[in-house]
Amino acid sequence: MQQSKQNCADCAFPASVGVLGATGSVGTQAVDVIQANGLSVDFLTAHRNVALAESQIRALSPNVYVMTDDASAKDLALRVKDTKTKVLGADALDDVIRSSSAPAIIHSILGEAGLAPLLSCIEAGKRIGLANKESLVIAGDLVMQRAKETGARIIPVDSEHSAIFQCLDGKEPSEIRSILLTASGGPFFGYTREALSCVTKADALAHPTWKMGAKITVDSATLMNKGFEVIEAVRLFGVRPEQIEVVVHRESIIHSAVEYIDSAVIAQMGAPDMRLCVQYALTYPHRREGLTKRLSLTDVGKMTFFSPDMQTFPLLALAFSAIKDGGAVPAVLNAANEVAVEAFLREELSFLGISKVVSETVETLASEAMACDTLESRLLMDRRARHVAASYIESPRN
Ligand code: NDP
Repeated sequence: MQQSKQNCADCAFPASVGVLGATGSVGTQAVDVIQANGLSVDFLTAHRNVALAESQIRALSPNVYVMTDDASAKDLALRVKDTKTKVLGADALDDVIRSSSAPAIIHSILGEAGLAPLLSCIEAGKRIGLANKESLVIAGDLVMQRAKETGARIIPVDSEHSAIFQCLDGKEPSEIRSILLTASGGPFFGYTREALSCVTKADALAHPTWKMGAKITVDSATLMNKGFEVIEAVRLFGVRPEQIEVVVHRESIIHSAVEYIDSAVIAQMGAPDMRLCVQYALTYPHRREGLTKRLSLTDVGKMTFFSPDMQTFPLLALAFSAIKDGGAVPAVLNAANEVAVEAFLREELSFLGISKVVSETVETLASEAMACDTLESRLLMDRRARHVAASYIESPRN
């Protein structure tokens, strides 16, 4: 499977790539795809993981490595001064993206911090393999509009959206009746609210099928992740929220499906492996052999499907109402959730406390947030929501 750099000139892969968030769960899988295919790397970025950044520099020789935490950038620069890679700090990120010779960028930065780099990629007209979902939740409508204007191409890497993208194969939104967005159900599938009151951080981090970063693993346990994916699908594919049906599918073999207006249902299946989604974002519309193991349906045996329990996991229902409310309401939802999940990971908030803080923050700010239709007003609302959520964690309401 290893290809030489010379052979790659005529293959389906771009001549070189950049990876935003290269040290994360998706980022390291993007690096696997890069190494397996012998791709050239123009730049990589990370925030604080200096040790992994150093080993990526030694393995991949990128032209530039951006560390967005400035102290970590200084540390990394010292460690790799014997290499040709230039190490830069956060201030350089926009310029690095815009001036990069790489036609394609995998974007796997975590959280709201991914929005500004996404806009830089769009202004530069890149092909963007997008994993960062929070930026689409905050400003997906504005982002997609700007991508249309600049000719940037956003290809989803999130597995469900990659699946939908593959099932759609360029079809018009008017031909779609519904999108069946599958969900593993997370580690607490079948739990009652009472049972959820006892779960710990370790329980929440034990996802049954996907190995992911800590924040998205907690989001999967609360079903906030599925709620974000509903918003992502509305933004990416131009469908209405009512056209999206969430289906719990414990085996994670069907990664999502599209029902067309003639009632045909086209699903995408495969072993759960983000590397396939990353690679397809790079090779689309072509396919190449990859690292993902083959699917044996006879080994799978049977597949099961359930409706999600939105009473026990209210954040999924809240995401549906946030996207219907529009404006900055999804941004408030995202900001409150980032603050609440960070507090949960520091063990300063209970599992059920996450949905309580997020719901209360949205309730407090929703009527004001609905009217925010510019990027600036959404970012202001994001800041306010962080402040409100933090205050509800510090002084819980009854
Ligand atoms: P991780 O936490 O594993 O990795 C996050 C990456 O972003 C790391 O490289 C990290 O650097 C960097 N980063 C963190 N904070 C900042 C910041 N403030 N500024 C710039 N860079 C930062 O996350 P995941 O890989 O799990 O998820 C990344 C994104 O992809 C999320 O939006 C997630 O929802 C989405 N996604 C993830 C999936 C998965 O399987 N993990 C599946 C589908 C979507 P450092 O390591 O140095 O801190």
